[in-house]
Amino acid sequence: MKDYEVIIGLETHIQLNTETKIFCSCKADSWEAEPNTNICPVCSGLPGVLPVLNAKAVHKGALLAAAMNAHINQKSYFDRKNYFYPDLPKGYQISQFDQPIGKGGYMDLPLENGETRRVRIHNLHLEEDAGKTKTEHGARLLDFNRCGVPLVEMVTEPDLRSGDEAAQYLIRLRQLLRWIGVSEADMERGHLRCDANVSIRERGSTVLNTKTEIKNVNSIDSVRQAIGEEAKRQIELVESGGKVQSYTLDWDADSGKLKKMRSKETEADYRYFREPDLLPVVLTDEEIDAIRADLPELPLARRARFEADYQLSAYDAEILTSERSLSDYYEAAVHSYTGEAKAVANWMMNDLSRMLNDLGKTADQLNLKPDHLAEIIRMVDEGKINSSTGKSLLKKVEETGKAPAKIVEDEGLGLIADSDALRKQIEAVLAGAPDEVANFRAGKESLLGWFVGQVMRSSGGKADPKRTREILLELLSKE
Ligand SMILES: [Zn+2]
Repeated sequence: MKDYEVIIGLETHIQLNTETKIFCSCKADSWEAEPNTNICPVCSGLPGVLPVLNAKAVHKGALLAAAMNAHINQKSYFDRKNYFYPDLPKGYQISQFDQPIGKGGYMDLPLENGETRRVRIHNLHLEEDAGKTKTEHGARLLDFNRCGVPLVEMVTEPDLRSGDEAAQYLIRLRQLLRWIGVSEADMERGHLRCDANVSIRERGSTVLNTKTEIKNVNSIDSVRQAIGEEAKRQIELVESGGKVQSYTLDWDADSGKLKKMRSKETEADYRYFREPDLLPVVLTDEEIDAIRADLPELPLARRARFEADYQLSAYDAEILTSERSLSDYYEAAVHSYTGEAKAVANWMMNDLSRMLNDLGKTADQLNLKPDHLAEIIRMVDEGKINSSTGKSLLKKVEETGKAPAKIVEDEGLGLIADSDALRKQIEAVLAGAPDEVANFRAGKESLLGWFVGQVMRSSGGKADPKRTREILLELLSKE
C-alpha cells in the first residue's frame, strides 16, 4: 500500500454569547425554552419586517477575528444565501459572502510531539442560525427558536493532518472562545459545531484531491472518530481502484458510522446576493484598534509566561492556564503570597482543583479568594497550623467566607508552639509511659517517633511537630 496523508479543513459554527439574536430582540439563548416560544416576526421570517443588526455581535465577531490574528475588514457586507429547507422560514439565510468581517489569520496549535502546527484561517463570517428539524412519531417537527441566533462561521485552510489534530484544534478553539468571552462554546448545546472536509493524497504530493464533507460532528470524540473512519474509507477505495467522489456525509455518533447524504452543493447553487435590508458594517481604524486593545493575553502566551516567570513545568502551566479565571486566580494568589510560586501551584493543582470540581464552580466564583489561599499557605509555612488543618481551612473559608486567621482563632486550630503549654503535655505523656522512657534511654532511639505520635494524639493533632521533637529530646536526655 502507498503511504497516504490525510488533509483536513474544518468549518466551525460558533454561537456568540450575546444577550439577543443578531437581527431582532429575541433572546439569543433559548436552550431551555419550549419550541417556537422564542421567536418574533423578524426571526420567523414574516413579510414586511426589517432586520436590525446587533452591534454586540459585530464586536464579538471582530474580537474573535483579532484573536485568530485575522485581518478585520473596515467594511463588510451581509448577503442572502438562498436555499430551501423547512427550518429556514425566510427561504434564505443572512450571511456574509465575499466581504466578511475577518480574512486570513491563524492559530498555532501545540502538538503532542512538541511541534507546533500553524492552522491558517481562510475567513470568518457573521451569520444567523437556522431552526431545528426533528422527526417524532413519523412527523417532521420544526422549532424556529434558533433562527437568528448570532454565529461566526470560521473556515480553516486544509492544514490539519489527522483526526487527532482536528480534535486538538477544537479543544484549543473552545478554550480560546471562553477565554476571550465571545461564546460559551458548549458543544452539547450546539454553541460550537463542526463540519470536516477530508481528502487523502500520497505523502509528498502537493495536489489537493477530491474531498468529502462530514456534517454533524458535534463532539471532540466524534471529530476524531469520523475523520479516522472517512480517511480509512477513502484509502481503501483508492487502493481498490476506485475514485473519491464529492459527497456530503452525515456522522451518526450512536452507530459510529458515516452515511451518504447528498452530492455536495457548490457556492453557485446558493445564488448569493447583497442583503438589501442591511447597511454595510463599517468599522473605523479607531474602532478596530480598540477591539485589538480589548484582547487579553491569550492562553498559549500566558502558558509560556507562567513557565518562564514562575518556573512551572509545562504540565502545571497547561493546567493553570486551562481557563482564564483559574490563571487569573493563580497569579493573584502568587502576588499575595510572595513566597515560591510553585507552592501556590501545588495547592491549586491538588486541593483547590478538587474543590472547584466538587462545587461545579469556576475560580472567580469562589468565596475563598486568592488572598485567603495565600494566607493559609503562609500560616502553614510559619508553623502556625499544620498542612491538614490548612486543607480543611480551604473548605471552611469557602463555606463561611470568614478570614482564615479568624477561623483558626475561633476554633482553636492553631498549633501549640507555646513552649510551656507544650512541655506540660509532653511531660504528662512521658509520665504515663515509664517503660518506653526506660527503653529509649537504654538505646532504643526509634521510640522517638512513637513519643511524637503520642503527643500528637493527646494534643488532638495540634502540637507543633518540630517543637515537640526538640522538647522530647531534651526531656528524654535527662536522667
Ligand atoms: Zn426574533
